[in-house]
This record gives sequence, structure tokens and C-alpha cells, in this order.
Amino acid sequence: MAGVFDIDLETEDVSDTEVCVSVADKTPTEEVELTSESVNRDSERVGPDCFELLTVLGKGAYGKVFQVRKVQGAQVGKIFAMKVLKKAKIVCNAKDTAHTRAEREILETVRHPFIVDLLYAFQTGGKLYLILECLSGGELFMQLEKEGIFMEDTACFYLGEITLALGHLHSNGIIYRDLKPENIMLSHHGHIKLTDFGLCKESIHDGTVTHTFCGTIEYMAPEILTRSGHNRAVDWWSLGALMYDMMTGSPPFTAENRKKTIDKILKCKLNLPPYLTIDARDLVKKLLKKNPAQRLGSSKADSADIQKHPFFRHINWDDLLNRRVEPPYKPQLHSDEDVSQFDTRFTRQTPVDSPDDTRLSHKLPPALI
Ligand code: ATP
Ligand code: MG
Repeated sequence: MAGVFDIDLETEDVSDTEVCVSVADKTPTEEVELTSESVNRDSERVGPDCFELLTVLGKGAYGKVFQVRKVQGAQVGKIFAMKVLKKAKIVCNAKDTAHTRAEREILETVRHPFIVDLLYAFQTGGKLYLILECLSGGELFMQLEKEGIFMEDTACFYLGEITLALGHLHSNGIIYRDLKPENIMLSHHGHIKLTDFGLCKESIHDGTVTHTFCGTIEYMAPEILTRSGHNRAVDWWSLGALMYDMMTGSPPFTAENRKKTIDKILKCKLNLPPYLTIDARDLVKKLLKKNPAQRLGSSKADSADIQKHPFFRHINWDDLLNRRVEPPYKPQLHSDEDVSQFDTRFTRQTPVDSPDDTRLSHKLPPALI
């Protein structure tokens, strides 16, 4: 095992300001590029004129997200989130699905109660606009920041819903790859919603970035960081890192800069605080196995192996999937337009859709700001 992960970081192309990790996938894939043709479900022509910009909600590595109101056609008055990118596509591992599917079928399969819903798409001025359901509950980790740490039953609820969403994507050949706190949001009821669904995105700021992802690395699996090829087990590592974060207040491997963080993820032994219960410790340890072949969830059974773990013994999975389990926190919202759950660094900005706005550095670790 040591040999596999014992890489010389000096020779890695890892700067302290940016890490873009290539996703070299040599397995046969099915791809759907997101366009107005592949996404829009009915004959309505949807374009920029159909939406009024209300507020900036956030910014990811790839583009800005706005709150918008539909002002024309079907669903007039309804609030959505609008994400601006250069391009986006879904890449599925064809081996994991029984047959080759039509683009529309692939897009339908990413629908899930705990994954953000994509309603419309359109392209204009060289940019792709995705109209998504607006997740007014904000990021789960805003809640975690308020609480400091989660009690185990709270963590169990959220981790259970995330496990179902990831298991669903995996069964459709999709690896999420980017599971990290700012991509986990809450619906207005307080249920989990993952933003995106393993999308391969192109940034509006730099069109040359394809098949890469940039940003927070604290939740990334060792095999992604060493670029040694990866599979769906990377998502179970990230689940372990999130679980650790929820129950201790910080991710398992952190350091003052990216290079040292990567070094820790690859080499350091996991340190578990004594107050975790036996079941929680056992699950975290099994998810944070550096060797993906030994990681819980890496077998064919995938999420089923995780669901069977004693940490989840009180969960009725059928009730959880059907949103019959009461969420631990219900976001306090006063209207559909309420943006109180979002960072004022974003919501105070004037909402303008400009490709050159690179001033923000949302959620970058302090070392990078
Ligand atoms: P990354 O790949 O780094 O995650 P990204 O460019 O794909 O970045 P998102 O994570 O989808 O961007 O969005 C950036 C931020 O915008 C999120 O962290 C969240 O705060 C907000 N956001 C994204 N989607 C929605 C949505 N559907 N409703 C409300 N807010 C959203
Ligand atoms: Mg994000």
C-alpha cells in the first residue's frame, strides 16, 4: 500500500494557488452535452428574456449562480437559480449501465429527490445558462458553521440522504467526484440537495479547462490527487471526509497550504477524536481507507454496503428516500425570494451577468486568499 501512495510531491504540478486535477478516464463512456435541445422538456422557447436577475447566490469554480424570476411563458413569477457556464456535459461510464441510452434518458436518470432539478437550458453569447430549482435553504455547511458540530443523529440523517443520492448516480454510471460542503444544499424543507450531478463543466473564465476540476481539495480522495485513475469509490472517500467534518468541525486532513494538505491526505494516519461512538468511528475509518479497493462501498454492492453499516441502523431507508423523515433543521424562510440563508458577500452584490467578474474567491481556503 505504501508504494502506491508514496509519490514525490516535489515532482507534482501542484501550486499553492491552483490545483486542477485531470480526470483521465479511459473506460467507455456515454456523454450528453447540456444544450437547450437536450434539456428543455417542452416546446417553449426559453432564453435570457424569460428571466429577471434578482440576486447573486454564489460562485463556484466555474461560474456565477443567480436567483432569477421567470417573467415569460410557463411558470411566470416562479423563482429559480440560474447558473452561467461555458459548457457542461454529463459523462457516464457505459459499463455500469445495461444498455446505451438516449441523451434524454440519461438526463432523466439524474433526477432524484436529493439532487438539484434542472428545468431549462439555453445558450447565448458563447455561454450556457442552466435554470435549476432554487435551493433556498442554502448550503448545509452554513448550518454546520452555526452549530459547530452535528450530533450523530443529525449527521446520520444528512449522510443517509447523501448516500442515497450518490448510490443513485453510481447505478447510472455517474461519479459525482466533487462532493464537498459547498455543493451540498438544503431544500426549503431542510432535505439534502446535491448541486450538479457529476457534470463536466467548462468555466466561463477560462475555456481551456476541460475535464478538470478546481477548488477545495480537502474532501478529495488520494487516488484523484495522485491521478492514478479512479472510480466511484472516490465519492465514498468524500462522504467519509464530510462525515468527519460534520462530527468534529473540520475535515480529516488539513494544513496551511494545498501542497501540505495533499501530502496529509496521501500519507497521514487518520486521527479520530475520542468522543465519537464506536459505530461512527468504524464507518469513518472504513470510508477513509486510502486504498480504494479496501474502502467501504467499493464493491459491486456500492451504496448498499454503506447503508448496512451499524451507524445507520436506525434509518428506515424507504422512509428516508420518500422524505418521510423529518429533517433536523428547517430553514427559516419568509418567501420564495428569501436569500437569508446565503452569504451576504454574494447577496449584497449587484446582479450582473458578466464573464469578466473574477474578483471573488468564494470558499477558497484561507491560505489562498
Ligand atoms: P464547483 O464545481 O466548485 O462546485 P460550480 O461552478 O459548479 O462550482 P456550484 O457549486 O453549483 O458551482 O454553485 C456555486 C454556489 O452557488 C453554491 O455553493 C451555492 O451557494 C450556490 N448555488 C448553486 N446552485 C444553487 C441552486 N440551485 N440554488 C441556490 N443556490 C445555488
Ligand atoms: Mg460548488
